[in-house]
Order: sequence, then structure tokens, then C-alpha cells
Amino acid sequence: MTSLLFNPNDYQPKHLDPESQRLLRSLIDWHEHRGKAQLKQDYHSARWYADFQRFVADSELFAHFATPAEVGELVDPAQPDAKWDTARINELNEILGFYSLDHWYAWQVTVLGLGPAWTSDNEEAKKLVGELLRDGGFFGFGLSEQQHGADIYATDMILRPDGAGGWLASGPKYYIGNGNVAARLSVFGRFADDDPQRPGEYAFFLVDTRHPAYHLERNVVHGSMYVAAFELDDYPVAAADLLHTGRAAWDAALATVNVGKVNLGWAGIGICEHAFYEAVSHAHNRVLYGNRVTDFSHVRRMLADAYARLLAMKLFAARSADYFRCAHAEDRRFLLFNPITKMKVTSEGERVIDLLWDVIAARGFEADTYFEQAASHIRALPKLEGTVHVNLALVLKFLPQYLIAAAGAGPELASVPVRIDSADDSYLFAQGSAAGLSKIPFADPRPAFTRFAHLPNVAVFIEQLTAFGNLVATNPPTAEQAKDLDLLLSIGQLFTQVVYGQLVCEAVAMALDGVPDGTRGEGVSACAGITEAHLDRIFAVFVRDFNQFALDLQSQASASPGQRTGALKLIHSPCIDADREAEFVAEVISYDGAYEMAP
Ligand SMILES: Cc1cc2nc3c(=O)[nH]c(=O)nc-3n(C[C@H](O)[C@H](O)[C@H](O)COP(=O)(O)OP(=O)(O)OC[C@H]3O[C@@H](n4cnc5c(N)ncnc54)[C@H](O)[C@@H]3O)c2cc1C
Repeated sequence: MTSLLFNPNDYQPKHLDPESQRLLRSLIDWHEHRGKAQLKQDYHSARWYADFQRFVADSELFAHFATPAEVGELVDPAQPDAKWDTARINELNEILGFYSLDHWYAWQVTVLGLGPAWTSDNEEAKKLVGELLRDGGFFGFGLSEQQHGADIYATDMILRPDGAGGWLASGPKYYIGNGNVAARLSVFGRFADDDPQRPGEYAFFLVDTRHPAYHLERNVVHGSMYVAAFELDDYPVAAADLLHTGRAAWDAALATVNVGKVNLGWAGIGICEHAFYEAVSHAHNRVLYGNRVTDFSHVRRMLADAYARLLAMKLFAARSADYFRCAHAEDRRFLLFNPITKMKVTSEGERVIDLLWDVIAARGFEADTYFEQAASHIRALPKLEGTVHVNLALVLKFLPQYLIAAAGAGPELASVPVRIDSADDSYLFAQGSAAGLSKIPFADPRPAFTRFAHLPNVAVFIEQLTAFGNLVATNPPTAEQAKDLDLLLSIGQLFTQVVYGQLVCEAVAMALDGVPDGTRGEGVSACAGITEAHLDRIFAVFVRDFNQFALDLQSQASASPGQRTGALKLIHSPCIDADREAEFVAEVISYDGAYEMAP
């Protein structure tokens, strides 16, 4: 059987350039050489990973993956192969998450810190940041404040004129990754209301964490990663330190978070894969009452569900990346798929871990397992870079245009090919204004489903999504209901499930049919070896999830009688054939012993 999961033992990302392959392999070897006992000791002692920082600097790991072509040109024109290649970055995230989310976090906040620089017109600042990155620097993103949470309009970081053409910045920041060591932080603030040039405007500016006006207070979490509380006290900001001002600062914050959100999905995939190997191996080799634990029918169903969910996470995230990489000013569909990668893929990660944990029970608490850290880490991902609610609210903006497309009244849009080629995804740092989301058009999603309408569970799902379209068309939220975010979020979950299903179908179709520039099967492990049987079992999970979301809508306090009746019409039964299920479970169990981290 072809393994559909990332496995360090046979990892060969042949679709990547040789240097990326070498670096990803060296990251795997670094972790395996240190071994699981050391990983867990570091996790429990919560010591800062200076050794990882040295490894990153010596190997130029972050510089290789996070330098776009334009910046590479500025830093060293003699080395023209720099690129921001989302396909290979996804692999890096998966591997980092597979071993340790603590370590992944240093990379993640580096990406967020680089975003405002890479989107800036300040060429000198860009060059400086590129050089510091090349020299092994970590970076960070100074957006959040303790008092204001998601309300970033209300920043208390204020820049006041210094009387000599520059500014003095003062204010607190909280939850800022790498704040202990960052070569530079990209900090979000606001010019004072009486600023002669830019009264009240927002700003992103570079901060050197070694400057005496930078006061590091503490690590606000217990972990190897450093999540800083810090304060600036009359920190001098020159025009050369300004990355963005006014509306552009706001847009840069959102564009950066768009880029960073994808990483959370792939880190969650990596966590689930490692935990899956441990859980299957434990359960299958544990004998109770003379039988293997994997003989219990509920255990078999839970492991099958976990595997199906995990495959769907990979398929969706991989297909979403294609849209990401093909995006341009006239095709911004990725802005719908992006918060779903963040919100849905990471939430599905929680469900995978919950299912596996119910199977392995007490073993999941033991200090020597990867699982114990996975169970804690997986919780973080849905909550960071916008909670599930914030991302669902964002997803809802796209619903009207999606419905138009699903009624066959949308425009013809270019189909998006598989994108695992080596290319610089320059548009991600030239996204421009974050406005106009509700006007972004979509292609008709129905063909993605009808391609697989012969599969029993896809057929059921088509009935469900058709009923959902009727419900929203005949009983849309009233003006009064539009103020009830709880009700809207129920609708958002149903809508998200439809979009999730669409991209999973597209990913499988492209893997099965092949595409002009080579099948995805060459590169992304979830797609090499994927079959219609996998897709049908994935949709058995989707049908059940849709039922749950429908029941949630039906139970909403403010739902109208028509909406309640319509919600019940969404509920359908999945089709589980005993023989096909037995084959699927046998595949799950075949992962027994397939991977165990070096001791
Ligand atoms: C480990 C860790 C690392 C972090 N690293 C960084 C970092 O490096 N840089 C950085 O800038 N920040 C970082 N953060 C901050 C993180 O992104 C915050 O979670 C964020 O600022 C939101 O604040 P909050 O979690 O306090 O939630 P709040 O904003 O206080 O939200 C409270 C509730 O209100 C809901 N809510 C808020 N706004 C909306 C809305 N518009 N629509 C619907 N519901 C809404 C939320 O869903 C939530 O349920 C980090 C946080 C943690 C825990």
C-alpha cells in the first residue's frame, strides 16, 4: 500500500529542488538524531531552544524558505534562486509540526514578522531584513496587545514626533513570538492624533529587540517557545524604520496574516500524522480480554474516522495552496479557501486527536509519548491568528457570490491547475487592498461534486448541499437575524463544509485524472495513491458533520420556523458498506509500526 501520510523513513519530495530536499532532510535528521527522549525533556523543561536557533542559522533554513525572489535580488544578486514557494513551505510546516509545534512557532512568527517587510516599498528596510534573515535571524510580529485582543484598531502603541523629523514610540505589546531574540520585530502602532504629517494613521515599523528602549518583560506561556510581553519606552523610529503607514499598514497586517494562516493548517496536519502513527501502533498491539483493541467495532470506526479526516485535511490544504499560488488581482478566490485552511483544517486536527485519544486513553497522558504534547499543541491552532469565530465570520462574506456561482449564474473563471512547481509566489506580497471580499466571484462548484456523484456518500452530500442552497434561498437570515452572530456562524459552518468538500473533490480528481504538468501524486503524500474508496469514506464523515451543523442551526434560539424545517431537511444518513469499511480499517491498521521516532 502507498502510504498517504508523511513518513520520515521514506520521505522523498522529488518534486522539490535539490537544496530544498536537502534542507528538509537535514531538519528531519536533526530531530531524529536528538531523539524522542530529548524532544520530550525539552518540552517538559520548557527551555528555550538555543540549539534549534543555531541549527537554523547554520543551515540557513529559514532564509532558504522565506526569502522571496525580489528580496533575494536585493540581498545578493549573484544568488538568483531565492523564491517564496508555497508548495515547499507547506512541506516545511508539516515537518516542523510533525516533530514539535514549539519549534514550528519560531518559524511561524518569523514568517509573520517578515510579511510587513516583504510587502513594504521601503527597499532599504527590506534589504536589511533580508540580510539579517540570511545571517540566521529570527523575526516576530508585534500586533497583539493584552487589553485589545482581536480589536487591533484600538492599539495603545503610539508614535509621537521627536521634533527632529522622526518619532518616539511608546506602548505595550503582548503575545509576541520570538520577542526575546528577534533580529527585528514588525510592530503595529498609530501616529499620535496631533502628528503634523499623519495624525492618527496606523503604522508598521521595525524594532530592534537589543535597543535599550525595548523592555522585555516576560514569556507569557510555559514552553520552549518564547511568547513575549514587552514595552517600548520612547523607542526612536526614523523614516527608514517605517514599513507602512495609513491604510497600507492595515492591509499589510491582513495580507501577512493571510500568508501565515496556511502554515497553521499544515502544522496541524504534521501533528496529527505523528500522533496517528503512535496511536495506531499502540492500539493494535494492545490485547484486552484476549483480543486486540483494534478489534472493537467502536475503535475501528474511530480510527477510520480519524484517518478519513486526516486525509481530507491534507487534500483540502493541498488544493487550497493551488488557488493561493495562482492568485492575482483578478482572481482572489484563495481568500475564501485561506480562512478555511486556518479554521476548518486546524479544527479537524482537534477532532483527529480527540478520536485517537479516545482510542489510546491513558497512554495519551504518558510523558514519553509524542501524543501527550500533540494533545496540548493541537488545541492552540484553531485559536491563534483569529479564532474559529473570527474566521467563520470572514468566510460568510463569500457566501452570496458562491451561491450565485452554484446556481450557474457566476462568470467563467480559469481553472486552477496543480501547483507543486518551483515558482516565486510574488502576488502574496502584493495583495493590495483587503477590501471587496464580498464581490469576489467563484466558478460553479457543482462539477467538482458531480464528477464523483456515483460514489454513495458523495451522492448523499449532493442532496444535502442542494437542500442547503434551497434553505438559504428561501429562508435567508432577516435583517434582525443578521445581528445574531451565533445564528450566522451556524450557517457559516454549513457553508464551510460545502467548500471543504468541493476542494477535496477537486484534489482527488486531479490526482486520479492527472493534469497536463504531471500528477500531484508525484509530490503531496495525501494525493499519491488516493482512490475513490478513500473519497467515499471521507464523505461519509462529511455527511455526518453536515447533519450535526444542521441540527445546530435547527436548535438556534433565533431560527425561524421555516429555517428550522429547512435545517431538518439537510439531515441524511451516510452509507457504510461493511466490506468496504473492513478494507478501509485494514489500511488504517497497516500503519502499525510504520514509523517510530528514534529514541
Ligand atoms: C501562544 C500564542 C502566541 C501568539 N503569538 C502572537 C504573535 O506572535 N503576534 C501577535 O501579534 N499575536 C500573537 N498572539 C495573539 C493571538 O493572535 C490572540 O489570540 C489574538 O490577539 C486575539 O486575542 P484573544 O485570543 O485574547 O481573543 P479576543 O480578541 O479577546 O476574543 C474573545 C472572543 O471574542 C471573539 N471575537 C473577537 N472578535 C471577533 C469578531 N470580529 N468576530 C467574531 N468573534 C470575535 C473571539 O472569537 C473570542 O471568542 C499569540 C497568542 C498566543 C496564545
